[in-house]
Amino acid sequence: METTLVYIGLGSNLNYPVSQIKQARAAIAGLEKTKEKRFSSLYRTEPMGPDQPDYINAVMAIETQLLPEELLTHLQSIEQAQGRVRTEDRWGPRTLDLDVLLVGRYCIRTERLTVPHYGIAERAFVLYPLAEVAPPNLLIPGKGVLRDLLRRCPPKGVHRLGEDEVV
Ligand code: ATP
Ligand code: MG
Ligand code: MG
Repeated sequence: METTLVYIGLGSNLNYPVSQIKQARAAIAGLEKTKEKRFSSLYRTEPMGPDQPDYINAVMAIETQLLPEELLTHLQSIEQAQGRVRTEDRWGPRTLDLDVLLVGRYCIRTERLTVPHYGIAERAFVLYPLAEVAPPNLLIPGKGVLRDLLRRCPPKGVHRLGEDEVV
């Protein structure tokens, strides 16, 4: 089966976010038919949603032979396993959010999955970690080239954590 390069956005702002992200990284790297390629620094970012703690965000590049919807099913199981509770509030606090940002150069639109992720072009907490693990000329289908999207999106509220920085 075909191998695709996939970028995943990870986010957490509850119950020891740094540990949540590290645990999710290991779980994704351990998925069948999947290999980790790169992992960004961790970022502390201001929340988009109503009053809640800051987030920890990162972006992971994997190579996988899973179909996009199979991958989404696995990612949702990992969210559940790490105690994600789905509430009424959109963008409410959560232990773990795993979003499929890009699947090669594919555009996907099914009931469960929209790729590229609809928020990718405007979200600094996605674009800055993505830029660490992807080339500046990365094409984001329907949105443009990563370098141009970064220029239009200042790194407001996005702080890259140093190796030994305590959160
Ligand atoms: P946002 O999508 O604005 O980042 P969110 O990540 O909090 O918000 P979720 O509650 O995690 O949203 O997911 C809502 C639904 O989005 C899921 O049921 C899933 O089927 C759907 N979805 C569509 N496209 C994607 C994608 N690219 N990655 C992850 N989920 C997606
Ligand atoms: Mg999300
Ligand atoms: Mg999500």
